Amino acid sequence: MGTPLDLLDVDASLSEEERQIRAVVRRLVDDRVRPHVAGWYEDGDVPARELAREFGRLGLLGMHLTGYGCAGSSMVAYGLACLELEAGDSGVRSLVSVQGSLAMHAVWRFGGEEHKQRWLPAMAAGEAIGCFGLTEPDHGSDPASMTTRARRDGDDWILDGAKMWITNAPIADVGVIWARTDEGVRGFLVPMDTPGVTAREIRRKMSLRASVTGEIALDGVRLPADALLPGAVGLRAPLSCLTEARQGIVWGALGAARDCLETALSYAGTRTQFGRPLAGFQLTQAKLADMAVEWNKGLLLALHLGRLADAGTLRPDQVSVGKLNNVREALAIARQCRTILGANGVSGEYPVMRHANNLESVLTYEGTSEIHQLVVGQRLTGLSAFG
Ligand SMILES: Cc1cc2nc3c(=O)[nH]c(=O)nc-3n(C[C@H](O)[C@H](O)[C@H](O)COP(=O)(O)OP(=O)(O)OC[C@H]3O[C@@H](n4cnc5c(N)ncnc54)[C@H](O)[C@@H]3O)c2cc1C
Repeated sequence: MGTPLDLLDVDASLSEEERQIRAVVRRLVDDRVRPHVAGWYEDGDVPARELAREFGRLGLLGMHLTGYGCAGSSMVAYGLACLELEAGDSGVRSLVSVQGSLAMHAVWRFGGEEHKQRWLPAMAAGEAIGCFGLTEPDHGSDPASMTTRARRDGDDWILDGAKMWITNAPIADVGVIWARTDEGVRGFLVPMDTPGVTAREIRRKMSLRASVTGEIALDGVRLPADALLPGAVGLRAPLSCLTEARQGIVWGALGAARDCLETALSYAGTRTQFGRPLAGFQLTQAKLADMAVEWNKGLLLALHLGRLADAGTLRPDQVSVGKLNNVREALAIARQCRTILGANGVSGEYPVMRHANNLESVLTYEGTSEIHQLVVGQRLTGLSAFG
């Protein structure tokens, strides 16, 4: 968009405001992420709190929500911001997605007025960090089988269980924790310093290393009655948050792919073998052309889904189409770009392998590609093949 990659002039169909938001985020990523991200990735250590405050100052956290210090922007503008963030790193975009689309969205949509006043302005400013605990050690794609339990004790609730692979958990101030109760799955707002809550960082990840991931142990955690999110009843509630967050991923994955493509284009233009630039070989051009075509199709898909969301008509199975296609194609593009860089493709001096590794996580979280195939399959056939 706005680059040679924008083969279809999609840029022209964006509003002035959308282009401006994109430019601001692109500048932020150029200044604050690009110069450092290879080091964060290598060290497995990202200054997430500092970044959250900077993103908060720019209004990127919960930017598509309204009121309580949130910017109230369109889903297309939010998507463009995700694309630019993920052109920096998928881990950095994950920080914004989990904060805005999972944790803040859960409070905004299902919380009582006091929850919203207490948490949303601080989270929008990046002063408070949230996490979203649905996945468990033994229950990932099938959250309906969760074993984390909340039981009544007088007016209080007692939570016992464990959550696994939770983005931001070790640095979070508050967790949106999903647990089974006698009335089905409910959501709880859990201050992470509550006695009985421990969050341990998951180390040795080979993907999303510039993102903090943790496991949460909940051991007899006593919570007051008002920790319950009143509007979140049943598994539909966390699933609706995931649908929200996936829309950012549909765009975000294209950011990682764009960065790979731009790197490969530039490399192929300057690296010479057999007396001519790699870009002059027909096989290289075929790779570049096929990747650019897929990237542009992905962009049209993201824009179409974003416009449907802004019109209020987007269905979850349509978001599955976008997540399935755009993450799968972004990963294919990253792998293909790596071949164009030859040995340099495996070096951390270039962003391509980092993006490819990151996209392995993006393919798996927020519903694996197989689960999204099943959602689309169900839409086509009317038959559920999940169980
Ligand atoms: C870096 C990272 C960050 C994450 N952050 C969060 C977070 O913040 N909050 C959170 O709650 N979770 C988070 N997750 C967890 C993520 O959502 C889960 O990993 C995902 O839902 C898949 O669950 P699983 O890993 O247990 O895999 P499983 O469910 O065990 O699946 C393993 C494989 O089996 C396939 N499979 C499973 N069921 C079926 C079926 N019915 N038919 C066909 N194939 C099937 C899957 O597609 C997959 O290929 C994160 C994960 C990662 C890697």
